[in-house]
Amino acid sequence: MTRDPRHDILFEPVRIGPVTAKNRFYQAPHCTGSGWRGPRILAGLRGMKAEGGWAVVNTEYCSVHPSCDDPPHACASLWDEGDIKAHALMTEKVHAHGALAGVELCLGGAAIANLSSREAALGVKSMPNMAGNPFQTRAMDKSDIREVRRWHRNAALRARTAGFDLVYVYATHGYMLSQFLSATHNTRADEYGGSLENRVRLIREIVEDAKEAVGDTMAVAVRFSAEANGGGGGDGNPVPGETEDMFGVLGELPDLWDMNIADYTYEMGLSRFVPQGALEPYVAGIKALTGKPVVSVGRFTSPDMMASQVRRGILDFIGAARPSIADPFLPRKIEEGRLDDIRECIGCNICYVGDGKGFPIRCTQNPTMSEEWRRGWHPEDVDPRGSDSHVLIVGAGPAGLEAAQALGKRGYRVTLAEASRELGGRVVREAGLPGLGEWIRVRDYRVLQIGKLDNVEVFRESDMGADDALAVGADHIAVATGSSWRRDGYGAANPKGIAEPGPVGSVFTPDDIMAGRLPEGPTVVFDDDHYYMAAVLAERIRMSGVPVTLASPEDMVAPWAVHTQDRWRSHTGLMEMGVGLVAGHNLTAFDGGRATLACEFTGRETAIDAEAVVLVTSRRPNDALYHALTGGIADGDAPRSVARIGDCEAPAIIAGAVFSGHRYARELDAAIDRDNPFKHDRVFSRDD
Ligand code: ADP
Ligand code: SF4
Repeated sequence: MTRDPRHDILFEPVRIGPVTAKNRFYQAPHCTGSGWRGPRILAGLRGMKAEGGWAVVNTEYCSVHPSCDDPPHACASLWDEGDIKAHALMTEKVHAHGALAGVELCLGGAAIANLSSREAALGVKSMPNMAGNPFQTRAMDKSDIREVRRWHRNAALRARTAGFDLVYVYATHGYMLSQFLSATHNTRADEYGGSLENRVRLIREIVEDAKEAVGDTMAVAVRFSAEANGGGGGDGNPVPGETEDMFGVLGELPDLWDMNIADYTYEMGLSRFVPQGALEPYVAGIKALTGKPVVSVGRFTSPDMMASQVRRGILDFIGAARPSIADPFLPRKIEEGRLDDIRECIGCNICYVGDGKGFPIRCTQNPTMSEEWRRGWHPEDVDPRGSDSHVLIVGAGPAGLEAAQALGKRGYRVTLAEASRELGGRVVREAGLPGLGEWIRVRDYRVLQIGKLDNVEVFRESDMGADDALAVGADHIAVATGSSWRRDGYGAANPKGIAEPGPVGSVFTPDDIMAGRLPEGPTVVFDDDHYYMAAVLAERIRMSGVPVTLASPEDMVAPWAVHTQDRWRSHTGLMEMGVGLVAGHNLTAFDGGRATLACEFTGRETAIDAEAVVLVTSRRPNDALYHALTGGIADGDAPRSVARIGDCEAPAIIAGAVFSGHRYARELDAAIDRDNPFKHDRVFSRDD
């Protein structure tokens, strides 16, 4: 296949100061949850992007000095020799594929609290920590400013030694330099505060320092907000015209402008709230303000939209974090005209959770993310089959579909049996809920891939019992029959379930709502699950017109979704729809007319009128088939193995089911050390 000529423009080389990018695909800096902690995991995943065709591959935010240290977020660091060695692993892999490697140097300011290094955080003034830590910054005096400039310059020099081609000055997202820019935060009376010229002074100096130190061989980029400059994640006080005036001072200084907006929840918004290409109105005017190349993001997966943004003079580079995570080979696939094979990001932000919780990044669509080095997984290639076995997979949810397509690509003969008419399992059900439509891409990618494989046969409307499954005569059976939401309220807050669960017909589960069976009177949605499901169901039921109260034993809506950026918009949306919110209360009883809620702190009970409750508490694995199969097979009988995968093994997020199906497919007939199933990354110290 060949590339569509309409996309040729995406493959033009672009000069960035002293270096040249081979095309317009630019992996913007993004967190990985590995940072300084997992240098080989990182080198593996960044190198894979380069192999997949990205012309520029950047690190995550990279601390220049121990006074910028942000646990539990594993930022990168360039403090010493050990860090240089760690980064060199990445730059070598990126260069091996003809790509440029960039590093996003970062100064923390009031966004960080130095919880590990215990240094006082430095800030434009003494101000509270913006991440809720009870530590204030030390107001920087002139000697601090000189030190900060020296640290940044030295880190740029170390970046050059590590092999980077591009170095960032990071002046947005609420870190130190955005606070200097901010008319709200920067109330200094010296030459670094007050007028716009003064507020941009430190950035200008740091850019000039970097240019002087490394600018002969490395490009210098500035990451900047197209609105609300200096907002701590959006300070709500954009000064009209300031961005234009700032470009009047800084516009031609760096070699590249990486533009975004200060509000992360919009910039990297969920598909539930923010569509593809949503930053265009913010960045559309930037190219008129500078002669330097401009990059921005927009969860771009459509090559037509990418080409259009370049053609219309909005952007020079197509920036991507999430689309490059879901499909590191996106550029190669566009180049080869294989648009069907693109694994499109679904905008769920599971990839952001590792950063907040401190584990290696994972992705719903791409189960190989972070596994490139430690398990040796390639996102496009799988090992050929290890035998001529026939594999039966029962259930075509995300686990079954992923196992079928990966086993099929390995060359196994695969039979996939699905009880219902439709493939996709929970993904089909959940994609029907408000805002989750793009999630259907999890099914679509896999069904399309399976359709290309002659060795995978799909049987719909095939509800398999144990005898049916054995009758297929497969050598291996993978049971991917999913899970069902419980109706008894059992969950973390109610380990004995909920007393008086109410008359039949008035207690609902998420499965009922997703099947279209909706309550007809005042409803309490009880959330003991803590992710998106309860909030989305409350929205769905409220849309049907009945009064809804969302109750949770936690003290906020969807607390786990704080890590995916669901929470604020979800909470606001529910309030705007008139959904009642009762935090810090456990549902202890329901009699069909009243729901009893007990305060988690005082134990005091309140009863509210409700004709229905929706119990979003926990799920039961649908593992009867697995047990029937394993119970009836003597050693040595066919099938040789029966496994359960996905939610049938352990109910979890969709990314968990996809990973489980993928792992099953990779590990069939492979020699895996069960005590050490993957390589353990370790960090270099400066003495190594
Ligand atoms: P997972 O997330 O683990 O992939 P899902 O719940 O999304 O699980 O999908 C499980 C799929 O298995 C559903 O499509 C369901 O219809 C199917 N299924 C469940 N039991 C059987 C069975 N006995 N035979 C065939 N298909 C089944
Ligand atoms: Fe996209 Fe979700 Fe993957 Fe992130 S985890 S890249 S949002 S599909």
